[in-house]
Amino acid sequence: MEFQKIKDILLSVLFTKRCRFCESITDIRKEVCEKCKNEIFTIDGDICLKCGCKKSDCTCKGKAGYYMSVCAPYYYDGALKKAIGLLKFHNNKNMAETLAKDMAKTFQERYGELDFDICTFVPAHKKELKKRGYNQAQLIAKSLSKEIGVPFFEILEKNFETAPQHSLNQSMRSGNLLGAIGLKENTQTDITGKRILICDDVKTTGATLDECAKTLLINGAAEVRCITACIANNKK
Ligand SMILES: [Zn+2]
Ligand SMILES: [Zn+2]
Repeated sequence: MEFQKIKDILLSVLFTKRCRFCESITDIRKEVCEKCKNEIFTIDGDICLKCGCKKSDCTCKGKAGYYMSVCAPYYYDGALKKAIGLLKFHNNKNMAETLAKDMAKTFQERYGELDFDICTFVPAHKKELKKRGYNQAQLIAKSLSKEIGVPFFEILEKNFETAPQHSLNQSMRSGNLLGAIGLKENTQTDITGKRILICDDVKTTGATLDECAKTLLINGAAEVRCITACIANNKK
């Protein structure tokens, strides 16, 4: 048996490695398992900055919102749906770091030319926090802030619980969020005239991100842009 093969076998016995998206045990030399590898849908090439989808998948037709742009490394599907599930419902907080690393690359590609003053996140309500123990968007923002060197601040808060956006029809969605997002008291920074990056795990309709952006702009921010780990592909 050649040396390389012996080395590989020894390594695979000595060390086990887990797939960075689904946590199943995988080949030591691979970051991602075979199954996930075939189920990763990256958002690369030309994108629509209003919805964050590939131009070929855009159905928003450049619809204006409060935030200037949104981008993400992946579509919310397959391996990434599993990863988000682990992060949100299975207490796998390390996943925030994994996703933030990929988001940092997307940030450099899409926003690399821009200077951001603040990196923040979509807030969760007290009751949601109590139930889960943490806000996954906050974990992502903290990790991403380190990766991209933009200061992290807690700025927004959720004033009351809202029904999940996906459970409502289009006309109920904007009303559902009205007044739900406010400025946190005693924030450690002044947002006047600042360019702010909002982080979240998944963008579905974008209504929550838009409500956050609206609150920031009303309170004096100059510009708001968003980044998420995944974006739901409306064309699918
Ligand atoms: Zn996997
Ligand atoms: Zn679009």
